[in-house]
Amino acid sequence: MPEGHIVHVDARRFTARLAGRTVRAASPQGRFAEGAAALDGRRLTGVEAYGKNLFLRFSVPRGATAGRAMPWLHVHLGLIGGWRWYDADGMQVAGRPLRGAGGGNRRLLLSAGRGQDAVSADLRGAMTCRLADAAGVDVVVDRLGPDPLRDDADPMEGFARASRSKAPLGTLLLRQDVVAGAGLIWRCEAPFLAGIAPQRPGRDVGEPEWRRLWDHLARLMGAAVERGGAEVTTEPADRPAGTRRPTRASAFYLFRRTGEPCRVCGTPISAEPMAGRTVWWCSSCQPD
Ligand SMILES: [Zn+2]
Repeated sequence: MPEGHIVHVDARRFTARLAGRTVRAASPQGRFAEGAAALDGRRLTGVEAYGKNLFLRFSVPRGATAGRAMPWLHVHLGLIGGWRWYDADGMQVAGRPLRGAGGGNRRLLLSAGRGQDAVSADLRGAMTCRLADAAGVDVVVDRLGPDPLRDDADPMEGFARASRSKAPLGTLLLRQDVVAGAGLIWRCEAPFLAGIAPQRPGRDVGEPEWRRLWDHLARLMGAAVERGGAEVTTEPADRPAGTRRPTRASAFYLFRRTGEPCRVCGTPISAEPMAGRTVWWCSSCQPD
């Protein structure tokens, strides 16, 4: 599932490549034909990522009604959605490679420029793709907890929600109204670095611990954005000797490392289901 850092990478790409430009919009697949027609020919004036939601703001033509009066496009990728970017020659330049024949399911195609200046992005498999007014955006954002990747985030809003709950920390970190954008990898790696067991009930996590946890979340997720979406949490010193670049096997402290030795203390990594998905922890580095 695309987590919040992927959405922030998308936001950066929109800002770099399409912001300020007049955009052509189409729905090759047809499911968003009306929405695409309403966006076509308008200028992209703003880009916001909030948790797993991307909001693109478009200019509103004078006297516009219905869809053309809606300033915002709201996209939530859901489990399998993704944006892919193409250059003037139609070569994919960013976004996850397409598997198999996926050519027919483009919900939305946004493009700008002509000739060598042309750039385009398409959206496939998203859970949500809809036009919204300001109130429609507020409804979504008001339900979300603070997003570690946003400058305006207040970590204590998340603490207020977590500290009222008996639910374990590893479950709370997946709840979008506690921390917006955190997902499976971060709910394991950040508590490890903060030295807190994922089984600890939210109400037993102290404020200094929460702040420590938050700082790790913000740092790890921010580093993933800087890497164009690639998740790496290990420090070079904690990777096997001779590993200059992190590989899939050395990128994490815990994630998918059941039974392997902890990179810090050597204790075998534990795993159990939590909130329907596996959570990993080190019983020595993260005492209850
Ligand atoms: Zn350990």
